[in-house]
Amino acid sequence: MKDEILKKISAAVRDIPDFPKKGILFKDIMPLLGDAELFPEVIKAMAAPFRNAGITKVLGSESRGFLLAAPIAMELKAGLVPVRKKGKLPYKTVSASYALEYGTDTLEIHEDAIKPGEKVLIVDDVLATGGTAAAMKELVEKLGGSAVGVSMLIELPVLNGKEKLGDSRLFSLLKY
Ligand code: AMP
Repeated sequence: MKDEILKKISAAVRDIPDFPKKGILFKDIMPLLGDAELFPEVIKAMAAPFRNAGITKVLGSESRGFLLAAPIAMELKAGLVPVRKKGKLPYKTVSASYALEYGTDTLEIHEDAIKPGEKVLIVDDVLATGGTAAAMKELVEKLGGSAVGVSMLIELPVLNGKEKLGDSRLFSLLKY
């Protein structure tokens, strides 16, 4: 990707201090999604490193993860698998819990969403502590799939999320 486009993408991410609570600098990607030139560039760039990786499923977690995972799945000619918070999926599920600052949260996936041996790409907007991505990886592995890659729009390297991803290959378009 041209430097000039990457700069425009970075400039279209809006910083919101103290959202959703004091001390968090929220990376708001809505201006980027709303830009007809930049959004497809983001999708192509997040898919590109995994084009020849044999990916058959792309996993996205609610809710901003869905917005990126769906077009990336189409770009890679792979299926889309939505991961949801506990209690939202209608069919039989498997679940994985992860630690939040206070307490835990649980993500779920349909038990037939991934077949054993499938190669899976995990997608989200922001990699912070890595808890969400690690729980998604656990879901893939519980179903016998292989989480070969993780594609993030934004990585916050100071929070060391990468360390929770084991041998999955991480690509992040922007780092702050
Ligand atoms: P974590 O599990 O700590 O890696 O957090 C990742 C999840 O929380 C992602 O689904 C993000 O959408 C969200 N998130 C974490 N930190 C931020 C941030 N600074 N700005 C926007 N979203 C964030």
